[in-house]
Amino acid sequence: MNKTDICIVGAGPAGSFAALFLAKNGIPCTLFDKAKFPRDKICGDGISGWVLTILSELDGNLLKRLSEQPFILPSYGIRIAAPNHKYLDIPFADNGLLQPGLSPGFTGKRFDFDRFMIDEVRTKKEVDLREATEITGFEKTKSGIRLSTSDGEKIESRLVIFADGANSKFAKNPGGLEKNKKNTMTGLKAYYKGVTGFHEKNYVELHFLKDILPGYFWIFPLPGDTANVGIGLDQYRISRRKLNLKDKMLESIERIPYLKERFKNAEMISKVQAYNLPLWDGKRKLSGDHFMLAGDAASLIDPVTGEGVGHAAISGMYAAEQARRSIENKNFSSEFMRQYDVDLYKRIGHELYISSRIPRFIRFPWLFNMMVNKGLKSKTLQERLGLAMTDLEVRKRLKDPSLYLKVLFGR
Ligand SMILES: Cc1cc2nc3c(=O)[nH]c(=O)nc-3n(C[C@H](O)[C@H](O)[C@H](O)COP(=O)(O)OP(=O)(O)OC[C@H]3O[C@@H](n4cnc5c(N)ncnc54)[C@H](O)[C@@H]3O)c2cc1C
Repeated sequence: MNKTDICIVGAGPAGSFAALFLAKNGIPCTLFDKAKFPRDKICGDGISGWVLTILSELDGNLLKRLSEQPFILPSYGIRIAAPNHKYLDIPFADNGLLQPGLSPGFTGKRFDFDRFMIDEVRTKKEVDLREATEITGFEKTKSGIRLSTSDGEKIESRLVIFADGANSKFAKNPGGLEKNKKNTMTGLKAYYKGVTGFHEKNYVELHFLKDILPGYFWIFPLPGDTANVGIGLDQYRISRRKLNLKDKMLESIERIPYLKERFKNAEMISKVQAYNLPLWDGKRKLSGDHFMLAGDAASLIDPVTGEGVGHAAISGMYAAEQARRSIENKNFSSEFMRQYDVDLYKRIGHELYISSRIPRFIRFPWLFNMMVNKGLKSKTLQERLGLAMTDLEVRKRLKDPSLYLKVLFGR
């Protein structure tokens, strides 16, 4: 049996960022993934400001190199379409954290983005990357956790970071996280070529269609005249409304006049694929004796925007920081590991809480329509909404009912 200090299960953004932050501190780890890279991950391919912020904390040069990759498209804002099909184009506000000259957001296929990150991992002598190796089970031991691999190997580790994604084998046990239909979204995506009508600065687009509120239909432009097109809604509402999401997505493109026009020369160039998004629905314990959960395994997806890559990156960074503390202090107890939860929630807990309250408001089509109608007439409101995409203080106000009253009935 092998013995090691730190194992990471899953080499998506949560696992790869954890491994890279550990390597930055000269700390060795073993990183397992059941897939062999490059591998695809069903996603909208939006790479938000959070990812770029954490990349720049990791290594500014890496961020610069990412921005120069041909699979990356810089994005400068967001288009939000109301159920009445009127839309607002809102530039992302500059949060001042990024290097000059870089766009505040990117899009890029996850196939390429995750390959880029793993290629960086491969350059680190501290990381023992084991691809095509699934972790099939675990046992608690006196001094840590014993993992079993699909190769029949047993590895005893003092600390394990479970970053094995939305269908995590370990989120419930040992993690203690329960998933249900309300906190799990189903997302579907397909690649298209030839969609027209994008904003000249490659805005990502969320279309809040009446039948799928508070979920949405999205169109994210990608390089080479291609786009990631998809739809997402929580599983509770899908069942209650007896929706077939794939039919809804294709029907919307065929029947809604403004979408039909934009897709008239477009061609679907992939299959339609679906996957789960574990949404954040409250503060829960994300660590215990000898382990931490990170990324989707920790249900860290923003319940409004569906953004999870940035939160996976942040959790990977804090998990690496806690691993460093644990090794230094030779303390892997649940009590000591709790600092991971504290750090992570300090950075994103408030933002997640605010997002979790917003769906209560955006599920009403009339309210949404009126907000966008007003927004079209008010430069101030447009600016406020732009800030809300990047600035927490402004986003806080979106969960406050008085904001909607002021917008609807104020000047
Ligand atoms: C349709 C859809 C659209 C989305 N759109 C966006 C978007 O536009 N922007 C955004 O920010 N987020 C988006 N998300 C969410 C985003 O994809 C996830 O939040 C993100 O991938 C989480 O990263 P992760 O590292 O936690 O998990 P993953 O990226 O899923 O990585 C987990 C890794 O673990 C490996 N693994 C699993 N089990 C094991 C095991 N037992 N042993 C070893 N390895 C294992 C897997 O092979 C995988 O490589 C979307 C999700 C969906 C489904």
